[in-house]
Amino acid sequence: MSAVIAMRGVGLTYPGPPPVAALHPVDLTVEQGQYVTVVGPSGSGKSTFLNVAGLLDRPTEGVFELDDIDVGGLRERERTALRGARIGFVFQSFHLLAFRTATENVALAQLYSGVPRAVRLAAARAALERVGLAHRADALPATMSGGERQRVAIARALVHRPSLLLCDEPTGNLDTTTAHAVLELLDNLHSDGMTLIVITHDPNVAIRGQRTVTIRDGHLYE
Ligand code: ADP
Ligand code: MG
Repeated sequence: MSAVIAMRGVGLTYPGPPPVAALHPVDLTVEQGQYVTVVGPSGSGKSTFLNVAGLLDRPTEGVFELDDIDVGGLRERERTALRGARIGFVFQSFHLLAFRTATENVALAQLYSGVPRAVRLAAARAALERVGLAHRADALPATMSGGERQRVAIARALVHRPSLLLCDEPTGNLDTTTAHAVLELLDNLHSDGMTLIVITHDPNVAIRGQRTVTIRDGHLYE
């Protein structure tokens, strides 16, 4: 098995002032196909960890390899390209455009990728099918349930076939019933071989992972 994420002594201190040591040096390896959940109280550093793992924030110390690529040596443009190619993000709020259909919302993810529009739309429809929403392809977000909107957001995160899916409180805005469909979907993606890191404060979500890590006061425990 090969590692999707390999962190050695990776930490992040926000410069401030005053400086905030949001993530103390972490050693963590996530193998391809693993489903990892990350728990911890509010303000403990979970989002900071996810932002580092997702190449949104640069760690201030340590060595971080994504798919065996040492990202510390990359220029900003290379990091952005790697992020765009390898990582899918899902957030608590779905960030869908209100006046675009589900298909258009998903297709917009590849807008600047040079992929022709017809190909983008076909890929978007395939991704919607993957999340069980083929029948809602032409629906606007306002007409969808929260769970359906989040599944559209997951389709958008999957459309460019990332090697890693990072989810920050993916069920945080959902009721139990609609959350269930999203969790089932994440289970299915895992079964299909996707590598998943899911941040949650909900114990019912945390137990879905094969592996749960805890972050407390910026320290990561396994
Ligand atoms: P969580 O997601 O677990 O709620 P965060 O990762 O968002 O926690 O935050 C961890 C700590 O880092 C908190 O103390 C927070 O106030 C601080 N923090 C987060 N972002 C910044 C930032 N951009 N600048 C300074 N401090 C920050
Ligand atoms: Mg957070």
